[in-house]
Amino acid sequence: MRANRRTMLQGAVPLAAAGLLGAASARSQTLPGAASPSRGIFDLPQMLIPVVGDERGFPVRRIYCIGRNYAAHAREMGSDPNREPPFFFQKPADAIQYVAPGSVGDHPYPTLTKNYHYEVELVAALKSGGRNIPEARALEHVYGYALGLDMTRRDLQRAMGNEKKPWEIGKSFDGSAPIGPIHPVNQVRHFTDGAISLAVNGAVKQQADLKDMIWSVAEQIAKLSEAFELKAGDIIYSGTPENVGPVVPGDLILCKIDGLSDLSVRITPPV
Ligand code: MN
Repeated sequence: MRANRRTMLQGAVPLAAAGLLGAASARSQTLPGAASPSRGIFDLPQMLIPVVGDERGFPVRRIYCIGRNYAAHAREMGSDPNREPPFFFQKPADAIQYVAPGSVGDHPYPTLTKNYHYEVELVAALKSGGRNIPEARALEHVYGYALGLDMTRRDLQRAMGNEKKPWEIGKSFDGSAPIGPIHPVNQVRHFTDGAISLAVNGAVKQQADLKDMIWSVAEQIAKLSEAFELKAGDIIYSGTPENVGPVVPGDLILCKIDGLSDLSVRITPPV
């Protein structure tokens, strides 16, 4: 084997010496370049979330999500909040499903899961960002707040977690981020406390107070900015309280945070 390999390597030398490799390299340099295109070969839509009191939308750059940010939810997910701090994951910007206030959004039951869960969450929307943002200045970057659902294929999330694989298939699928309109801070307030709840078919399932978050929105921004450069257009799903649970087609979900528009979706059959 060794002799054969040496023979093969030796055989390669004359190719280079003959200039054949050089010729191939020179030819690749003559291919048309891709320098600084000014437009794409097709258009990609920019995800915009409607803003209360403004005809313009909020352009979404990234969706960050906080995991296990309420102690009771961390425990129900099998972790110890005193030993394991909250953490981050992302959803793609086009996972947004906007639902207008006063309407009920049709939310198709997704593929591949048999255990589809709701998670009601406060969402903070950033108008600016940076790196290593101090907690004391973090809220200056918040444009507004919305009410959102971090929909989760719980069986797939758990299976991937058990195998120490990424969560994407459980968390970051199409339509996994229903959200209501963004309320600018100057029309509401910073949401450091207040009731958050979720009901299914009229029965309250999740009920907590935003002050029970382990990391406040200001802390979330400060911590995130240590790992990522935050920018205008980033939105942060702040984590869900305890008592997450399953829905099936036909179920009606109603989410509330005091001071924000209600958010409601109906689970429809798989498409
Ligand atoms: Mn969540």
